[in-house]
Amino acid sequence: MFDIRSLFVVMVATNLILAVSLWIGTGRRPQNGLGTWTLALLAQAASFVLFALRGVIPDWVSILAANALLGVSISLVAAAILAFRGRKLPLFVHFATGAAAAFAVGALIHDFGARLIAVSFLFAAGQVTLLALAWKPTPGVSGGTRGMFVASFALGTASFLVRAVGPLYSPEAIHDFLEPSATQAFSLMAGYTVILLSSVSFLLMQKERADFLAQQLASLDPLTGAFNRRTFIDLAEKQLSRARRIDAPLSLVLLDLDHFKSVNDNHGHLVGDRVLQRFADVVRDQLRKEDVLVRYGGEEFCLLLPDVPGPGAVALAGRIRKAVAGSPFVMNGVEIPLTLSAGVAARIDEGPEGLDQLIGRADEALYMAKNRGRNRVAAVSLGRSKVA
Ligand code: GH3
Ligand code: MG
Ligand code: MG
Repeated sequence: MFDIRSLFVVMVATNLILAVSLWIGTGRRPQNGLGTWTLALLAQAASFVLFALRGVIPDWVSILAANALLGVSISLVAAAILAFRGRKLPLFVHFATGAAAAFAVGALIHDFGARLIAVSFLFAAGQVTLLALAWKPTPGVSGGTRGMFVASFALGTASFLVRAVGPLYSPEAIHDFLEPSATQAFSLMAGYTVILLSSVSFLLMQKERADFLAQQLASLDPLTGAFNRRTFIDLAEKQLSRARRIDAPLSLVLLDLDHFKSVNDNHGHLVGDRVLQRFADVVRDQLRKEDVLVRYGGEEFCLLLPDVPGPGAVALAGRIRKAVAGSPFVMNGVEIPLTLSAGVAARIDEGPEGLDQLIGRADEALYMAKNRGRNRVAAVSLGRSKVA
């Protein structure tokens, strides 16, 4: 059977190693909850030190303070998970959890069995709360990592429940705190696993989300959230070769706001920016999941429409044109009428037409729509053109 005090020593060492690594690894400026996570590890380490000193230091320190610190470490983990999502846990919650744990053990200080049951249920409830917080998906975090994170708190819950329920069924399961017993060894080993598994998954979550955000930053236009031109070229090349391979339709629509310069001139550049953002939202409302919206340049956007033939693309461009022209944008109480011209080109089955030529035809159609008076949709297919 394991020596309980030694297990505590190993856990303290593990917590300290993890805390120091986090502190150094994050350049001593931890963000997104990593600082709070480090504090939780330290609070836990302190609590384990006090537990291990049971019998050596006064009982009220080893029992009251140790359990209060363990309670606080749970609320600190909750705060770290919330901070990772940009939310804050009010400070009083830490005091409340610490006080609740201290109160539960304080009231039962002379009855080890009742104390063990009460405090284990309390901490099991804390672990369930962490599990619920960990359950919520975060953009960029993979299912596997989230699963590990959730599993660690499920194990934490199980270990406290075993401690709580065990004595209810067999009172002889209640031993002296440091006396080796199967329950004590199981819950400490489980606790050790929870610390490692949850810390590693929390770090992985940080890394995965940072990668995701970096990739977004590199591929999206920050003003409108549409893809940028560089990403568009990559996506469009892939879609074009897929369409050729399986002989599927593919359309391209260029959208250019009419007389946008005058929006800037009349209302200022900042309002112009907001109009562009709102315009992108209006367009997105009309798109399917597979459609790609790109900010092609200034006030020029592009739609890449996989599996959509020319007539479908013309219809979609028409719907967008109507949606934009039909309701003026209202900014600071001022109505800003807006229209757009669109050029549509669809992939042609015959010949090895490349992306440049396809864009060229959409551009030609857009030029026609502008020339014919703006606020309209035009399409160019090989040798034929149509303006609606
Ligand atoms: P047309 O109908 O011929 O397209 O006229 P236009 O005024 O829209 O076209 P032009 O190309 O002459 O002007 C485009 C304007 O778009 C000029 C530029 O100031 C504005 N613009 C481009 N990018 C941005 C941006 O990011 N924010 C704002 N506010 N304006 C922009
Ligand atoms: Mg324009
Ligand atoms: Mg333009």
